[in-house]
Amino acid sequence: MVVFGAIEAGGTKFVCAVGTGPADLRARTEFPTTLPQETIARAVGWLKEQGQHAPLAAVGIGSFGPIDVNTASPWYGFITTTPKAGWRNTDLVGPIRRALGVRVAFDTDVNAAALGEQTWGAAKGLSTFVYITVGTGIGGGGLVEGRLMHGALHPEMGHMRIAHDWRADPFPGLCPFHGDCWEGLASGPAIAARWGRQPEELPPDHPAWPLEARYLALGVANLVCALSPQRIILGGGVMRQAGLLPLIRQMTLELLNGYIQVEAIVQHIDQYIVPPRLGDNAGVLGAMALAIGAHRRAAAPGGRLGDLL
Ligand code: ZN
Repeated sequence: MVVFGAIEAGGTKFVCAVGTGPADLRARTEFPTTLPQETIARAVGWLKEQGQHAPLAAVGIGSFGPIDVNTASPWYGFITTTPKAGWRNTDLVGPIRRALGVRVAFDTDVNAAALGEQTWGAAKGLSTFVYITVGTGIGGGGLVEGRLMHGALHPEMGHMRIAHDWRADPFPGLCPFHGDCWEGLASGPAIAARWGRQPEELPPDHPAWPLEARYLALGVANLVCALSPQRIILGGGVMRQAGLLPLIRQMTLELLNGYIQVEAIVQHIDQYIVPPRLGDNAGVLGAMALAIGAHRRAAAPGGRLGDLL
């Protein structure tokens, strides 16, 4: 019986786990993200300890970014241009692979979460879909025709430019790179800065929520048009606000305005824009799915993850 290690490397905390899936999550821990050397050593130490009970076949890492996922690049496995203090140009994969001596799979936190949802959750059976998290930032990833989206770098959906009506919302946005990009207008910190209160303290009838729903629907409608996903999963702390998801569904339909006549969207929007199914473990289970995929691909080159699980 093989067991896999998983690391959800977040800007605020690291979550580590070992197991083979949601029904077999054998151990899990989390600790704050401090400086790289200390944080990586802590993850390695914990995984080493767990590996004494059952040897790890591979480790998966879903990381905050931007990161280098190009296996041909000398910077593969690095966190690159992050604004997070101390983490710029940090090699994450190298020290973990060297310390544990196993195959390490590496991708963005949102691509990992997307793969986890496809393997065990809200995107089972789908080949083309998008996973978006709305929390401290906005991130998006997903699969196209069964493959995780990479390309020139990897998707940075949170930094899409969306329509910003300055008269209705004079808040300039807080992205250090773009000001009023999607994340700059609609992340949790953007809500807090605009209204002077944390999102969870804003009552359900506060005007913050229709505005938030409109911004999220604008991004979702753009993604529907750009990528033609079979489903869009919306997760993250901000999405815990009751009533936000139905508003986003309604506004997305209004923005599309009947142009995309697909039954899954027009007739079944409540099954088209959905919450994640793996809950708080989506990230770390996604990292585990990355590890399983890498292990199985090594065992059967050319095989697809879905054929092997
Ligand atoms: Zn931005």
